[in-house]
Amino acid sequence: MVMGKEEKSGTRQIEGLERVFRNNAELAKMLVGYIGKFYNRLKNDFGTFKIMDFCGTHEWTITHYGLRSLMPEGLELVAGPGCPVCVTPSHYIQSALKLGFEGVVVYTYGDVFRLPSLKRVNGAGSLAEAKALGADVRIVTGIADAIADARSHGKDAVFLGIGFETVASGYAQALIRGLLPDNLKLMSLVKLTPPAMLATVEILAKERSAVKGIIAPGHVSTITGAKAWKPVADRLGIPVVVTGFEPIDVLIAIAEALKQLVRNEAKVSIEYTRAVSWEGDLKAQEMIAEAFRVVEDAWRGIGFLPESGLRISESYSSCDAFREYGIPEIAPEYCQEDLPKGCKCAEIVIGKEKPTNCPLFMKKCRPSSPVGPCMVSLEGTCAIWARFGADGLADRIAEDLDLR
Ligand code: SF4
Repeated sequence: MVMGKEEKSGTRQIEGLERVFRNNAELAKMLVGYIGKFYNRLKNDFGTFKIMDFCGTHEWTITHYGLRSLMPEGLELVAGPGCPVCVTPSHYIQSALKLGFEGVVVYTYGDVFRLPSLKRVNGAGSLAEAKALGADVRIVTGIADAIADARSHGKDAVFLGIGFETVASGYAQALIRGLLPDNLKLMSLVKLTPPAMLATVEILAKERSAVKGIIAPGHVSTITGAKAWKPVADRLGIPVVVTGFEPIDVLIAIAEALKQLVRNEAKVSIEYTRAVSWEGDLKAQEMIAEAFRVVEDAWRGIGFLPESGLRISESYSSCDAFREYGIPEIAPEYCQEDLPKGCKCAEIVIGKEKPTNCPLFMKKCRPSSPVGPCMVSLEGTCAIWARFGADGLADRIAEDLDLR
């Protein structure tokens, strides 16, 4: 049978969307239609505006699948400060470098291993370089690996605890259950996400293209519950949608945020009901509250944010690397100059700039030789854009569908 032109085109559209959305191609098409219709009802009042994703994995989904190309012109999807490696000040990496050169075993995640420090210590500009120069730096997948290894050798050791609420519950459990051997200390650099989301959107509120909706992190919300975002939605007056990581999840979240805007609502919605509840993991929250104290913390590229970090509480201070080794906290003046010359990570982590607007992007700064922190981790916006560009699968499919 010979197909007519329209039939062929229709078949190609479905096949194309199937490549990205698998069994949800029809739903995806419908959602893209809703997004377009909702946006048309908003554009006269709002003009161009942004929806911000906070989690590096959401940015990965959006970029890998080219979801930006499915959005109406004037609706911009931007990434926020949702990569803990990107926002850890290099001051603390320098502290870890010093410990490494003093003979302390330093345990770190694989991405932190490559995180550039602004100032060199004994010739090393990262933990990877320190290892090459003789420091004992060991990559682990989590604190359990560090505990097992530190027990086996008995040398003085420090675990660099970088991450958001998701990792905090594991650290808290290790502290409360007394799992850390005497020779292993935890350097808690855990950051709390809601204060950063508030600060970021407020900074951008003065911009021409402000953030009008938030795609909230799914992993973090399994611990905190969706309730953690209520103060954000209330104070900013914009919708917050807790979302899963499939491309269809992200489209649903965008449609939900726009629907709320059309209805003049600013609620917290849970799209990711298969993993997230309103209350979250109450046991984990209790443990975090017991093992840690909440502090004003420094976010690389953003500055100090109130109640945005966790340090070990007094009850478990014998496990605290800050106390054991007298590690100083970052000085406020250093926070302002904590990025390499030319690097635009300060603007990128708040969604003000795109990686492609950085003059170093894919020239001097590449995933294999990162200059700034956003090019290091798989969750860093620059690293994600470098790997996938804007040329994801849906980008090409959108051309087929005349959605661009
Ligand atoms: S491309 Fe590199 S130098 Fe430029 S903003 Fe990103 S991480 Fe910084």
